[in-house]
Amino acid sequence: GGLPSFENEPMVDFTRPDHRAAFPDALVRVRTHLGKTYPLLINGREVRTADLMPTVNPNNPSEILGQICQAGTKETGDAVAAAKAAFPSWRDTDPRTRADYLLKAARITRTRIFDLSAWQILEIGKQWDQAYADVTEAIDFLEYYAREMVRLGGPRRLGHAPGELNHYFYEPRGVAAVIAPWNFPLAISTGMASAAIVTGNCVVYKPSGLTPVIGWQLTELFREAGLPDGVFNYVPGRSSVMGDYLVDHPDVSLIAFTGSLETGLRINERAARVQPGQANVKRVICEMGGKNAIIIDDDADLDEAVPNVLLSAFGFQGQKCSACSRVIVLDAVHDRFVERLVAMARATSVGPPDNPAHSMGAVADDNAMKRIREYIEIGETEGKLLHEGPVPAGNGYYVPMTIIGGIRPEHRIAREEIFGPVLAVMRAKDFDEAIQWANAPRFALTGGVFSRSPEHLAKARREFRVGNLYLNRGITGALVERQPFGGSRMSGGGTKAGGPDYLLHFMDPRAVTENT
Ligand code: NAP
Repeated sequence: GGLPSFENEPMVDFTRPDHRAAFPDALVRVRTHLGKTYPLLINGREVRTADLMPTVNPNNPSEILGQICQAGTKETGDAVAAAKAAFPSWRDTDPRTRADYLLKAARITRTRIFDLSAWQILEIGKQWDQAYADVTEAIDFLEYYAREMVRLGGPRRLGHAPGELNHYFYEPRGVAAVIAPWNFPLAISTGMASAAIVTGNCVVYKPSGLTPVIGWQLTELFREAGLPDGVFNYVPGRSSVMGDYLVDHPDVSLIAFTGSLETGLRINERAARVQPGQANVKRVICEMGGKNAIIIDDDADLDEAVPNVLLSAFGFQGQKCSACSRVIVLDAVHDRFVERLVAMARATSVGPPDNPAHSMGAVADDNAMKRIREYIEIGETEGKLLHEGPVPAGNGYYVPMTIIGGIRPEHRIAREEIFGPVLAVMRAKDFDEAIQWANAPRFALTGGVFSRSPEHLAKARREFRVGNLYLNRGITGALVERQPFGGSRMSGGGTKAGGPDYLLHFMDPRAVTENT
């Protein structure tokens, strides 16, 4: 039968006592599972390797969450072979049947929503609401792509010439390598993998080395949904050992990647090289970084602008590809805006997200901490430190919440993605200059404008050229179907996750013409 129309999964509601109580309960429950060893999943079978890597709580790195078996090239090759073997019958499975597996996975995910959130609080340091939002986004991807496949599944008739029957339809490409980042560890992994699966490809999934337990949760969801063996294979591994091997493999014909510019460009370049025995021109779906700006016009409603800039810049420690890392303020309101921004920033309480009173915590790992601290030093020499928040005691990967003023477009902290809680403030003489500066970096992911001027908003629509532009609201939290997400220029290939064109990238169209 037909499916009910798509609806976004509701957000967490902390006015509900059951929602409030569920988080501490889930944290206790999840902690009873710490210290397990996690296998790979290849062709439906759990595979153990001798090479183990721990995964830890970034707010307390001595809390080891689990040990992860690492795939080497042998296991990665086995996973590609399993996916290749599973492909013909998965390709020929009715699209509606494939969609039903996603819908079943969505139902299972819903029943575990608090435990899945708790894993994110522990493994990557998300605040409660942020963790829950990542899980609801994963559910949305499953529900949305299931419906999209039903929409695209049948042949379309084209043309109206007499005596001629034209059919146009889509076929999957084969083995898809899905390579995921840590910052939306369930949502982005689920999105890329479910799109590949529902379109009829078979997946070799490599989670980020920082969030492999969450990657394993996804593996269990698909396994319990009953996906046939080999359709989804889980191969966590050191990217320095198996990353290039997976990308270069001649039997991989599609790569879905979300992550940094550096890795994305490397994957693009390697995938373009044809290997002996390769049967397909590889396609790379590549979503990368951002250097996102919010413009504050001289007539902006500062009651709206100040909290929205703070949330967009510092939610989840600024570690969202969509995060605001530059605020471009028109000269006339600059000083008033900065004063209010800093006053509100001072009120932020920082610490482990086990405690919901903390709205900021540790960053992802030791490397991120060092990189962000270096950028803070660079920023202090380029501009003027306006705010540096406190760093909690303890061994967590903490960096201070940082706001730096007097930044110009040529400065490094105005051009390079920092991916942490660092906000650059830029003073522009007028709206035209603000738009020009907003577009200056090579990234083009998200952006925002706070203004009451219809002419300026119209100008921003035309000329503020980013993948996702938000007018008079925060710039993070894109929802599946309502804000198809992704950038252009050096931010990505314009494929738009959660949008109506996304699944087309996972398939090749065919046309059949019959003379009747
Ligand atoms: P990353 O360092 O580029 O890693 C992403 C994935 O690529 C990880 O699974 C990583 O594995 C893997 N990888 C690294 N080197 C590889 C290689 N040579 N071959 C194959 N795979 C390789 O990015 P990240 O730090 O996880 O994520 C943060 C970045 O993602 C930021 O730049 C952010 O803006 C971007 N992002 C973009 C979007 C978007 O939609 N545009 C969404 C979210 C995040 P290991 O972890 O094992 O090294």
